[in-house]
Amino acid sequence: KDFRNNVKPNWCPGCGDFSIQAAIQRAAASCGLEPDQLAVISGIGCSGRISGYIHAYGMHSIHGRALPIAQGVKLANRDLTVIASGGDGDGFAIGMGHTIHAIRRNINITYIVMDNQIYGLTKGQTSPRSAEGFVTKSTPEGSIESTLSPLELALSAGATFVAQSFSSDIKQLTALIEAGIKHEGFSIINVFSPCVTFNKVNTYEWFKDHIVNLDSFPEYDSSNRISAMTKLMETDGLVTGLIYQDNSRKSYENQISGFQDTPLAHQELQLTREQFDNLVAEFK
Ligand code: SF4
Repeated sequence: KDFRNNVKPNWCPGCGDFSIQAAIQRAAASCGLEPDQLAVISGIGCSGRISGYIHAYGMHSIHGRALPIAQGVKLANRDLTVIASGGDGDGFAIGMGHTIHAIRRNINITYIVMDNQIYGLTKGQTSPRSAEGFVTKSTPEGSIESTLSPLELALSAGATFVAQSFSSDIKQLTALIEAGIKHEGFSIINVFSPCVTFNKVNTYEWFKDHIVNLDSFPEYDSSNRISAMTKLMETDGLVTGLIYQDNSRKSYENQISGFQDTPLAHQELQLTREQFDNLVAEFK
């Protein structure tokens, strides 16, 4: 199973997004998937290009809207493994409404956020994940807004799988994506992915000095939501590993009656060709 294609990524050399692409490809192969069993739906931003770099179904969609489209794909064909991806601006600013509601819906999608704490594609503006005081072109005197804590929000919204990793730790990242794919329900994996061109503060070295890796704490209980929230708050959100998993809830699509049998995409069309063409014409 090879999820590589011939498209050469045009990310800057050293960008953290390369490792995330490789980790998705490795995790999909480890799960035994074939390329026609996987759909990767991305938003807009440097990170949004990722759907074009993976040999699978894919869509480079709309800013902040990767999740509605990914949910549509999953509901149309529940047999597909669906990965949504995008940056922190994409998912936690314009797309935050979708993120929260996809989490509480618990639809079976793996959402990978490529978090570089800045807007890279538009050449370096403050994002919701930028630290207070962060100086960019849009905040020349330093950001005066507080930093968003997306995983604390995810836990509050009823998330059933919450993880975080670092693009330098491809072994952990691959294992977490594999676990997220296998999880029945919505999995959110936030990945620290340094922007080497525009973010000169949150560098690879900075993360190595600040990250607390749960893999070094075998006694940590990832089934305890209070521990998960506490760990996030104690570490100022800089904890990596599987932070929380709840296997007790069924996924959204597994609770819709009649939905389990045949995916919509495989059902017979209950229209004549003429009726179908007329319907399509109405939406043109
Ligand atoms: Fe990566 Fe930043 Fe370059 Fe975008 S601008 S490709 S995020 S290093």
